[in-house]
This record gives sequence, structure tokens and C-alpha cells, in this order.
Amino acid sequence: MIALVTGANRGIGREVARRLAAEGHTVYLTARSAKGAADTAAAIGGRDVRPLRLDVTSDDDVTTAARDIGALDVLINNAAITYDTWQRAVSADLDVVREAAETNLYGPWRLTRALLPQLRASAHPRVVNVSSEAASLTSMGGGTPAYSASKVALNALTRMFAAELRSDGILVNAVCPGWVATDMGGAGGRPVEEGAASVLWAATLPDDGPTGGFFRDGRPLPW
Ligand code: NAP
Repeated sequence: MIALVTGANRGIGREVARRLAAEGHTVYLTARSAKGAADTAAAIGGRDVRPLRLDVTSDDDVTTAARDIGALDVLINNAAITYDTWQRAVSADLDVVREAAETNLYGPWRLTRALLPQLRASAHPRVVNVSSEAASLTSMGGGTPAYSASKVALNALTRMFAAELRSDGILVNAVCPGWVATDMGGAGGRPVEEGAASVLWAATLPDDGPTGGFFRDGRPLPW
């Protein structure tokens, strides 16, 4: 399998890339900085780990990646920003909201679209959008407005891509990794290995696996 992971220089993305590499898969380990990608690729080891600079907000980076990447089976849209616990929807800074959407929504949108030729050519294509239970409308309350709104929209994108790509055999799902002890999640969350496992489940689905779903640890979450 050939996989690409965004935001793979730290946190859950790094662990997902490490696990895929340890299992012998080819991994495009991407990060906002070339050094971040190269250093992480060297640190995690693996048979074929290819570091690549990829800022998901950059049309140039995405275009270059789509041009340079040959085959690809699995795209893991992991990169995200702005878990804005300091904001409320009623008073949110809309520039912060827009900035979050640029990475958390338009990033996966831009990249997935650009890599469709590779995914369509794959025998077992998968797209995993790393979302959050914070996007569940069923349990939606107040707070983290930039983050929650961007992930709700990412979930909607997941449904649309899944529907539009079903006939191409591309399985597109949203996953929540759970509360994970990373820079974003902070102390007290579960180990990064467990969060990564929730993501990897959707990356390695069988051909008759689900598409257009929202899962944590392989179990459906309420939209
Ligand atoms: P993290 O530790 O903050 O790491 C975020 C990663 O995204 C970093 O590698 C960061 O790169 C990268 N990134 C940010 N903006 C980018 C851009 N424009 N282009 C490319 N990469 C970019 O976060 P995490 O906890 O591992 O979260 C990973 C995913 O899980 C996210 O989608 C997050 O929303 C989701 N999630 C996390 C939790 C949790 O409790 N941790 C819970 C639910 C969902 P830099 O190093 O350059 O900043």
C-alpha cells in the first residue's frame, strides 16, 4: 500500500505514518516544512518513507505534490489547527474561524481533489478525513466554534466525496481519534497509539468496507 499522511511531523499523524511504515507500507510523510518531514522520516524508520513538504493551505504545494506523486492508495487528511477553547461562537474572531477552515476544511478538499487521478487508478483507494466528535451535531453544544464548524463541514465533505466517488470504488470516511494526548489534545488524553489506531482502521478497510461514515475505534459515531 502507498499512503500519504498530512501533518505527519508530530502528534497523531506522525504515529499513523510510523505504524504504516513499520507494517512495510510506502509512506509519503508530509509536513509544512521540508526539514520537519525529513527529520521525522529519518526518526521513524521504515522501508520506504518519502518526506515531502506539503502545506495543505498552499495551492502550489498541493499542485506540486499531485504532479510528483506517482501511485497512491490511501490519503489521510490529518493536519488541523485551532482547537479554540478560548472562543465562544457568540463572540468569535471570524478571522480565526476562516483561518481554521483554510486548513481543516479547504486543505482536505484541495488535496483530495488534486489526488483523485492517483486514487482512481488505485485498486484499493481510501480517503480518511480525521475529524472529531466535536463535529457531532447530535451532541453539539457551545464553544470551540472555529474548530467545531470546520470539522462539521469536513464531515459534510466526507459525505459528498463518498457519494460522488462511490462508483470509483473509493471509500471515504471521517474518523475521530478520541481525546489524544498531543500538542492539540493536551495532557490527560489517551496515548497517541490509540488515536492512530482509530485512523488506521479506516485506512485499511476491506473493499466491501463502509463509505460515507463517521467512526471512532471502528464503531459509528452519531453525526
Ligand atoms: P497536533 O499535535 O496539533 O498536530 C497537528 C499537525 O498538523 C502538525 O503536524 C501540524 O504541523 C500539522 N499542520 C497544521 N497546519 C498545517 C498545514 N497548513 N499543512 C500541513 N500540516 C499542517 O494535532 P493532533 O492532536 O495530532 O491532531 C491530528 C488530527 O486529529 C487533527 O485533525 C485533529 O483535529 C484531530 N483530533 C485530535 C484530537 C486530540 O485530542 N488530539 C481529538 C479529536 C480530533 P506543524 O508542526 O507545522 O504545526
